[in-house]
Amino acid sequence: MAHPSRPVDAQQLSLFDLLPAPLAAVPVATPKAAAPPRLAVALAAPQAAPLPPAALTSAAAGLAAAASAPRFQHPRAQRSITLGEYPVGYEFRRARRRSIGFVVGLEGLSVSAPRWVAVGEVEQALQAKAGWILRKLHEQHERAQRLQAAKVVWRDGTTLPFLGDTVIVLLDSRVTGAQLNSDGQALPGVPRLTLHLGLPQTATQEQIREAVQSWLQRQARRIFEERCAHFASRLGVRIKRLSLSSAATRWGSASASGAVRLNWRLVHFALPVIDYVVTHELAHLREMNHSPAFWDVVRSVLPDFERHRGALRTEVLPAFE
Ligand SMILES: [Zn+2]
Repeated sequence: MAHPSRPVDAQQLSLFDLLPAPLAAVPVATPKAAAPPRLAVALAAPQAAPLPPAALTSAAAGLAAAASAPRFQHPRAQRSITLGEYPVGYEFRRARRRSIGFVVGLEGLSVSAPRWVAVGEVEQALQAKAGWILRKLHEQHERAQRLQAAKVVWRDGTTLPFLGDTVIVLLDSRVTGAQLNSDGQALPGVPRLTLHLGLPQTATQEQIREAVQSWLQRQARRIFEERCAHFASRLGVRIKRLSLSSAATRWGSASASGAVRLNWRLVHFALPVIDYVVTHELAHLREMNHSPAFWDVVRSVLPDFERHRGALRTEVLPAFE
């Protein structure tokens, strides 16, 4: 899960590792996010908070953005400063370090400085970096609003993206477990998929969330196994072990030993997007890097992969917690 005060969170948009660029070009902010070890190449995913398919929440996010002007006040702020035209309340800590550090996360600005640096000097440094700080604060503010808009309310009738389609969740105590139905007669624009959960109308949000999550994870395993088998044989590679991950920071990873991990949240995306991630990881079993040769391997089975991978960056998945 994302930790808001970690620099990696503030930098989440730069964590993406989807472009045919050398690994060294991926900006990294923490040891955890540092360039993947040579023998385990990972495909970065957004932190905790993937964003929803535009169809589901962009309208809500747009409204929210228009309605609330940014107020840059860290919940644990002990100091404040005016940067440009904005008062900014920031968290300040003395830390064992050699320089002044700034982190902009979902909560706001945190500053840490060595004991021997005077407050005046810290404020000078903040002014010198004002442009960067304000830009990051605005980005985080927008992101917080998107996350808010993407929060799922777990109740009868909730909708969720599944394989690029929309599924309506229905509580239906006649059903055992969970059952997906598709209505061939649905009107255009009306979701035709319904997921019937064997839960009473009195079920708690927590129960509904758990039932949906475990259903999605079962679908993920089934679909990933099928797609991996398909592309492994086309690429002539062997997967030793396939496992589901719920890593906050990556969509998938592959290790030289043949272990492949795929994030179960990929099931929200349309199949071509899933196929891109599957192919990307399997291609690493042949090329443990992001060299032109690696991208040739990907292209050999998915000539139009570039059309689909953008979704991993731009779509907003529902926030489950
Ligand atoms: Zn990769």
